[in-house]
Amino acid sequence: MTELGMVPATILLVDDDPISIRLLRSILKDDGEVIFATNGEEAIRLAQTQQPDVILLDAEMPGLDGFAVCERLKQDEVTARSAVIFVTAHNDTERETRALDIGAVDFITKPVSPPIVKARVRAHIKLKQQGDHLRRLAAVDGLTGIANRRVFDETLARELKRAGRSRHPLGLVLLDVDFFKLYNDRYGHLEGDACLRAVAQALHKLSRRPADTVARYGGEEFALILPDIDRPGVEQFGGIICDTIRNLKLPHEASKVHEFVTVSVGLALLPGGAEVTSEAMIRKADELLYQAKLGGRDRFIVGDIA
Ligand SMILES: [Mg+2]
Repeated sequence: MTELGMVPATILLVDDDPISIRLLRSILKDDGEVIFATNGEEAIRLAQTQQPDVILLDAEMPGLDGFAVCERLKQDEVTARSAVIFVTAHNDTERETRALDIGAVDFITKPVSPPIVKARVRAHIKLKQQGDHLRRLAAVDGLTGIANRRVFDETLARELKRAGRSRHPLGLVLLDVDFFKLYNDRYGHLEGDACLRAVAQALHKLSRRPADTVARYGGEEFALILPDIDRPGVEQFGGIICDTIRNLKLPHEASKVHEFVTVSVGLALLPGGAEVTSEAMIRKADELLYQAKLGGRDRFIVGDIA
């Protein structure tokens, strides 16, 4: 299952009957890493931590049954992408329709036929992984390889919600390559593209925490979303960004501030417990970026919002 450079699949088996699990595992052991749960709660926990490609879900279980589990999985964005195949002893249209309605992709009846289970699971792994691949492509800015504007918008909205719930601070950085139009005029657009790629890569390396997001905001503007960062952290980050880009030593003869490419940076900090809209947060970072430009470029300005 490694065609198209895809990663080995993870298959989660959920059944309250260990004999069923053993049987399915023997059928599917060559199609990916097989993990299992014998009740609904455990299944949800494993789905969250392992993010399996495919889940074979027993409809009839004591406690949380398959339908309840599937509904919970589909409501949580962490688990919603796993393909759920119901496995049930009851072959009736109403149950099958209900399963598909709540987000299952397929429906297999017990006693299972090994070749059918294998073929269906393989087909759904392939679809799921192709979908993942397309999602990754759709999330990436084609020129620089970092997150694109759409991902930035979604991430900022999500992080603002999370910050509101957790009462943790949130930092938003907007930065702009200084005199980039003059750079393009002087060196040409291919060199301009290479410059943007170099800046993007440098920013990507700076954002070491897994929760940080670096995105191309548009043109020669980049954005970083920094969850749970305090004021000293933001100030330090502003300095590091300016130094790092300047130290790339990309010649910029047309620049009016430096012999190398530099950036101007606005860093807006949402203090813990405050709540604002994405638009207000971006407007603030943009204002600070504008002040950094007015102040002479190749510098950063930090400001609180709300
Ligand atoms: Mg059962």
